[in-house]
Amino acid sequence: MKDVIVIGGGPAGIGAALEAKKTGAKSVVLLERDRELGGILNQCIHTGFGLHEFNEELTGPEYAQRFINQLKNEDIEVHLNTMVMDLTEDRRVTALGEQGIWQIQGKAVVLAMGCRERTAGAIDIQGYRPAGVYNAGMAQRILNMEGYQIGKEVVVYGSGDIGLIMARRMTLEGAKVKAVVEVMPHSSGLYRNIAQCLEDYEIPLLLRHQIQEVHGKDRIEGITISQIDEQWQPVKGTQQIISCDTLLLSVGLIPENELSEKGKVLLDPKTKGALVNSMMETNVPGIFSCGNVLHVHDIVDFVTKESRIAGRNAARFAIDDLPCGTELSVKPGKGVAYTLPQKIMVEDPEGITLSLRSYKIYRKAAIKVKDGERTVKEKRERMIVPSEMVQIHLDAKELKSLRGEIMIEIEGEENE
Ligand SMILES: Cc1cc2nc3c(=O)[nH]c(=O)nc-3n(C[C@H](O)[C@H](O)[C@H](O)COP(=O)(O)OP(=O)(O)OC[C@H]3O[C@@H](n4cnc5c(N)ncnc54)[C@H](O)[C@@H]3O)c2cc1C
Repeated sequence: MKDVIVIGGGPAGIGAALEAKKTGAKSVVLLERDRELGGILNQCIHTGFGLHEFNEELTGPEYAQRFINQLKNEDIEVHLNTMVMDLTEDRRVTALGEQGIWQIQGKAVVLAMGCRERTAGAIDIQGYRPAGVYNAGMAQRILNMEGYQIGKEVVVYGSGDIGLIMARRMTLEGAKVKAVVEVMPHSSGLYRNIAQCLEDYEIPLLLRHQIQEVHGKDRIEGITISQIDEQWQPVKGTQQIISCDTLLLSVGLIPENELSEKGKVLLDPKTKGALVNSMMETNVPGIFSCGNVLHVHDIVDFVTKESRIAGRNAARFAIDDLPCGTELSVKPGKGVAYTLPQKIMVEDPEGITLSLRSYKIYRKAAIKVKDGERTVKEKRERMIVPSEMVQIHLDAKELKSLRGEIMIEIEGEENE
């Protein structure tokens, strides 16, 4: 029997394991399927990590290494090359590792399995399935970790952060990136990435454009794109063929929740991650969740912050010290795509930070936390965009004053 078992050795899992140990868990086990710790950070060799956590601009591997170093000084059992295959509601973990299949029982379990990329199959592109079509994150791994060149003439489909970063990365490797094609009227990446990855390299961003067809049988030879209208129909006369030998797909990330479902953890259809309370505990007592498996983050520093809450409370659960109290639901209101956590405990002495994403771009925005008609807290932002997570903090006094279900709304000048 172990106090805390953490599944996944990315920044979320490492952060949770460290915090669980610090809080007083006697035995903490960290299970990672890869050959090394660090998760997705190992392939992110660009800078932009750690601005909140260290007030420094680090690369992904540098950020990960700071936590891996801390782990080395702790009595935490780490198993690499160990794939967790099953999880039960009563926190029994089955893993396949170097010693074969084995089982361990946890008093508490932290889910930190990250997320995976949506594939070509998920977006229904017409044409054959030729070589040269990659998911952007996979291409990043092949290029940055395995050291292989991907292609010479590139189109990126989807303007999320991975797509933007790969457009710049391929350019730096000598490829010609002909365009980043995006179906939405705005990019789904961070503003800083649009400036630093596209504008600085004069890579065109074609908004409200869709791929109609992929050409080529053995290797991709080009794509046909066209502009689309508000009903997502192709606009006549706007079709164009772009020749390319590589198409990178950056069309969304999905939390890796197969294990969560096996453990009977309820998922939120909006985040596709677990429903959690402010202690990052799921509906299953003793199972906690954090990081990209809970909801897809844009900034790793927030992953670390969240992982500390999950790790601390998993340890408290294991040593029978988890606080309990009155829980209230938090619901997304006008303009809000999702909020997290979905439940909060009003007696929390440290207060609680709520995370949310908007549906649209808002200028001169006000985020309002309401219980009924009353506005409990308001935060003003010059601009809110769907790609950037927003946070609003309620202190202990504001929490205590809450009566009934909480709704978060955004008001402001709407842009598409
Ligand atoms: C291309 C890209 C660029 C980014 N750029 C930035 C940036 O500039 N700045 C920034 O702050 N953030 C950036 N991020 C975001 C940040 O890297 C992620 O938010 C963060 O890595 C998520 O951490 P995680 O631990 O939740 O998931 P991951 O890092 O994905 O780790 C999950 C781990 O769980 C393991 N795992 C999964 N299933 C199992 C299983 N069944 N058994 C055992 N192990 C398992 C995986 O192997 C993996 O190691 C970027 C992300 C990407 C993809």
